[in-house]
Amino acid sequence: MKQVYTHSNLALVNRAKELLEGAEVPCKVQHEFSTFSVGEIASIDCWPELWVLNDADEQRAIEVLSIITDPAEHSQWQCPECDEKNDDSFEICWQCSHEKPA
Ligand SMILES: [Zn+2]
Repeated sequence: MKQVYTHSNLALVNRAKELLEGAEVPCKVQHEFSTFSVGEIASIDCWPELWVLNDADEQRAIEVLSIITDPAEHSQWQCPECDEKNDDSFEICWQCSHEKPA
């Protein structure tokens, strides 16, 4: 297993997982619930992590995830509702489901 992505925001890690699943790369999220401990600030040690099950998939996973790890290379739109940046291929905001402005 290889860790290919980690972020303090579980929603982003889950989005990364969906991208890998869409590319048929077997993967799993670890520490999925650890950031929700009440009253604690999550240290990087317990951020949710995305792992690929097969080491051979690591490079492919990194390429697939470049869409979120390297957003400058992709055109984006900013959500008028929550100010989240969304990849141009998304028709609704991944964060709040607001529709992409025309
Ligand atoms: Zn939004």
